[in-house]
Amino acid sequence: MLPLIRSFRNSDLAKKVIHRIENLAGGELFRIVHVCGTHEDTITKYGIRDMLPENVGVLMGPGCPICTVPPNKIDVAIRIAEKKAILTTFGDMLRVPSGHGSLADANARGADIRVVYSIHDSVRIAERTEKQVVHFAVGFETTAPTTAAEILANPPKNFSIYSAHLLIPPAMIYLLESGESSIHGFILPGHVSTIIGSAGYCEVAERFKIPQVVAGFEPLDVLFAISMILQQSLEGRGEVENEYSRAVREKGNPKAQRMMAQVFDKVDGAWRGIGVIKNSGLALKREFEECDASKRFHIEAEEDYTMPKGCRCGEVLKAVIYPWDCPLYNSSCTPDNPIGPCMVSHEGSCYISARYGAFGKKHG
Ligand code: SF4
Repeated sequence: MLPLIRSFRNSDLAKKVIHRIENLAGGELFRIVHVCGTHEDTITKYGIRDMLPENVGVLMGPGCPICTVPPNKIDVAIRIAEKKAILTTFGDMLRVPSGHGSLADANARGADIRVVYSIHDSVRIAERTEKQVVHFAVGFETTAPTTAAEILANPPKNFSIYSAHLLIPPAMIYLLESGESSIHGFILPGHVSTIIGSAGYCEVAERFKIPQVVAGFEPLDVLFAISMILQQSLEGRGEVENEYSRAVREKGNPKAQRMMAQVFDKVDGAWRGIGVIKNSGLALKREFEECDASKRFHIEAEEDYTMPKGCRCGEVLKAVIYPWDCPLYNSSCTPDNPIGPCMVSHEGSCYISARYGAFGKKHG
């Protein structure tokens, strides 16, 4: 595997691809959007934005599974934990601010909130206690199949989930329909695509005829994807291509898709800083209602929620601005003292930019 990774970090080849990108882009303005925290990490860590011509910009959209959970859902999770249940979730969720503080604040007040690495750890906790155990299930198509698998595996009666799962293609459609950000192509997320396949973006291609390329996570993967998007654009094509064929198949993972379809209904989903997006959420089907914590605890999310004062995460998540366009970036909002969710999560673009000290000079 190591020689393969090295070949995707080959600087001579990178220079050639950048030269090709310069030629393809000419003098036109291109704004390319990706929807994946790992892609953002690669782009920022390797300084890919600085290698690109000034007229080619790459922005991160709603690709952080933690940043996109709306605060009213975190409030529900807190209220569940305050009902003497054990609440489990992933580590990044703990410090994300909501209307009533964070899960970490609730923990400090005495609620039993535990960090787990997977939903399976949560089921194991339920097997060893008589208390109610609720897993706060967040994430995109990458994590939803593991939630579905546990629900289908007949978990203990004292186990339930509170679903905040969201789906990526409907969010891409929302971005294109809203027109808030001009987008000339999408770098498609490698992890999500292993589940839904390159075929999972057909609706986006059919409706919007926009170039899309599934990409891996090495620097050359991202550069190849950008050049493929520009090539499509130059040829007037708007289709889905797969740069990451070493991991992603056209049909993705049919077994994982079947489990998701068996357990979840698609419902309108709330995204932090964006709003409600049609058919972008996953709710447990009626036959699995007994595993639905919101029904078990009779708690519904309140409709309204606001972003922290001055925080522009909504625009960051909609690929309208870069993190450094926010006046609070790296001044009053830092990884040690985050104001908005994009500075809390390791997959948030503000956090990643601050971690690597990024201050963009270009605004393509
Ligand atoms: Fe929000 Fe902080 Fe990012 Fe500004 S820098 S958009 S306040 S998370």
